[in-house]
Amino acid sequence: MKIHEYQAKSLLKKYSVPVQDGVAINDMKYFNEAIDYLKSRGFENFVVKSQIHAGGRGKGKVYKKGGHHELVVEGGVKYMGANTEKARDYAEKLLGNILVTHQTGSQGKEVKTLFIAEGLDYSKEFYIGILLDRTVSKNVIMASVEGGMEIEKVAEESPEKIIKIWIDPATGLQSYQIRELAFGLGLEGKVYKNFITFMTNLYRAYEDMDATLLEINPLIVTDDERVIALDAKVTLDDNAMFRHKDYAELRDENEEDPLELEASKFNLNYIKLDGNVGCMVNGAGLAMGTMDLIKLAGGSPANFLDVGGTATPETVENGFRIILSDKHVKAILINIFGGIVRCDRVANGVIQAARNINVNVPIVVRLQGTNAEEAKKILDESGLNLISATTLEEVAAKVTEALTK
Ligand code: GDP
Ligand code: MG
Repeated sequence: MKIHEYQAKSLLKKYSVPVQDGVAINDMKYFNEAIDYLKSRGFENFVVKSQIHAGGRGKGKVYKKGGHHELVVEGGVKYMGANTEKARDYAEKLLGNILVTHQTGSQGKEVKTLFIAEGLDYSKEFYIGILLDRTVSKNVIMASVEGGMEIEKVAEESPEKIIKIWIDPATGLQSYQIRELAFGLGLEGKVYKNFITFMTNLYRAYEDMDATLLEINPLIVTDDERVIALDAKVTLDDNAMFRHKDYAELRDENEEDPLELEASKFNLNYIKLDGNVGCMVNGAGLAMGTMDLIKLAGGSPANFLDVGGTATPETVENGFRIILSDKHVKAILINIFGGIVRCDRVANGVIQAARNINVNVPIVVRLQGTNAEEAKKILDESGLNLISATTLEEVAAKVTEALTK
């Protein structure tokens, strides 16, 4: 689960990680209050930051919501200095409009929250990222002097500028490793010391929060030698949510794919992809195999959908509706193995669903396992446009045919 910058910063504060301070607002009526609060904390300069689940906000573009690509303002994050009127003006342009960055895709994301933050002056900026390196089953810390830049670009153009430290899960992060990072970034004196404390706390936060990604870009060094997280991106491990009941409120459903959200309400394991063949399968392994099969047939999967072990007529119908809400779907492939669930029941479910919903794309159905023959008969006699298939080769051929029609 991704969370917003302001939420990430409030979590990091609990681990004594110094962060750029600020107040989140979702309505301009709270703007003055936010500024007054920041002034009361002694801050003289301000930054207005759009809160969306995507990076590259600073270099993004803001378009009018509902407008036809009508540019409102350049940049989704701006340093305003002490000019609160200018800040208010800019904030008004962001809230309720669409921010497009290189990470959002062209449809962008609606800005529903703003983070009104203290404006900091700094002399140096760095990149710090902590994530799980699955290839070696270890957490890795990445650091670079190329802060503020897209790290993907740095990795491509000058990979030698990224320092990597892998952490052995048995021993944890060692102090010599943090020193190695500090030296690598060329730090010394008070900044060096502050960085050591910063990294120690940051890594503790990463582990304790059960994060899978913690990215500080940029990490800044202020003129008075403080080390502060100017930005913070955190992804939390969904599988660890049971250990953090209080994180449930951090979820922002506005940021999730509407179809995935709908599917999760029916307990369907659905992931939206960008292909043209919708698929409904029981079991994750078979679903992966089916996606390969679709590729082999010359199509590309529009989604991953695992309806689970017990595919009831209701699950099938809900699955159908979700698949068909995707405008790119040109054909549907149902590949279900009847182990616990009987194929004839699934076949009836498919027919019921196809009758209830106006399905206007070809549906290839492969039901194998318990009562498969009976199921095929039910499908063939349904009078509906259902293309039944028995073997995997036949499935591939029929999907190809359905796509070229
Ligand atoms: P991102 O573009 O989504 O990564 O958002 P960031 O939080 O990293 O902000 C984008 C950029 O805004 C930063 O890289 C800085 O250049 C600038 N910025 C943000 N806060 C401040 C600030 O307090 N002072 C200054 N001088 N620049 C800031
Ligand atoms: Mg950033």
